[in-house]
Amino acid sequence: MFNSLSEKLESAFKNLKGQARITELNIANTVKDIRRALIDADVNFKIAKEFTDKVKEKALGEKVINSVSPGQLMVKIVQDELTELMGGTAADFSVTGNPAIILIAGLQGSGKTTFTGKLANYLKVQKGKSPMVVAADIYRPAAIDQLTVLGEQIGVPVYAERDNKDAVSIALNAIKEARAQNKNVVIIDTAGRLAIDEAMMTEVANIKQAVNPTEILFVVDAMTGQDAVNTAKAFNDRLDFTGVVLTKLDGDTRGGAALSIKYTVQKPIKFMSSGEKMDTLDVFYPDRMAQRILG
Ligand code: GDP
Repeated sequence: MFNSLSEKLESAFKNLKGQARITELNIANTVKDIRRALIDADVNFKIAKEFTDKVKEKALGEKVINSVSPGQLMVKIVQDELTELMGGTAADFSVTGNPAIILIAGLQGSGKTTFTGKLANYLKVQKGKSPMVVAADIYRPAAIDQLTVLGEQIGVPVYAERDNKDAVSIALNAIKEARAQNKNVVIIDTAGRLAIDEAMMTEVANIKQAVNPTEILFVVDAMTGQDAVNTAKAFNDRLDFTGVVLTKLDGDTRGGAALSIKYTVQKPIKFMSSGEKMDTLDVFYPDRMAQRILG
């Protein structure tokens, strides 16, 4: 994951470690290499600059120059700042309520339906919950079929109404049905579009207003870098979501989305998802991710 970023950061530190005497200029050069590595990973320029300014200030303040192991101290500073950039500590995910209602939003193809299945499986297997998933996509019958297959695979009931063209009423009926069946979590998979679209936003906003969700998760394909960040901003402006889900981290992702989303929308990344298997969902821990990036 984020291999290219990891390699470039490692080489930035290597230059510092190789110096017989450390000077402010050495630090400035290392910081410049770090900034370039972040920008190559598709981190927005402003975020990369602010990040490296902070690293530089800390490095000079903590006297990397006089340290016995300047390289190591520099790695530690960068690790702490990366953790901070991605949100510091792991965010809470609430499944209280009877039932807890989790609304899933995002563009078509981002991995919403796959994530809906994974989250239901995670809550069932790891949290002992009794979930129901809802196919609230009124445009693509294939989306209902896809969720039905996943539901069967994980042993979770799927609520759908193939002839109902009102997503809000499907969501409300599903919650009624969940109560009747004693289900304590309802996960609503909404319709997406290939690009930001006013009708889609209105529909999800209407569902939000009608069901008053416990959590609203915005799902985004991590492979899309700065586009992912821009999409997150548009969805957050409209939905004020509670958390982000990064998908497709198994692919050749550069890291820009993971590193920039929290800063841009001020909402935590709550889950990360890699692969299509139902048991591969992970809670997002900023410190572990920072550690992983720095190898
Ligand atoms: P939706 O349109 O947002 O509901 O997206 P889907 O869940 O249907 O996913 C779109 C495509 O991406 C499908 O082919 C999925 O199998 C695939 N997909 C979803 N999540 C992941 C993931 O984490 N990794 C990979 N490699 N593929 C994924």
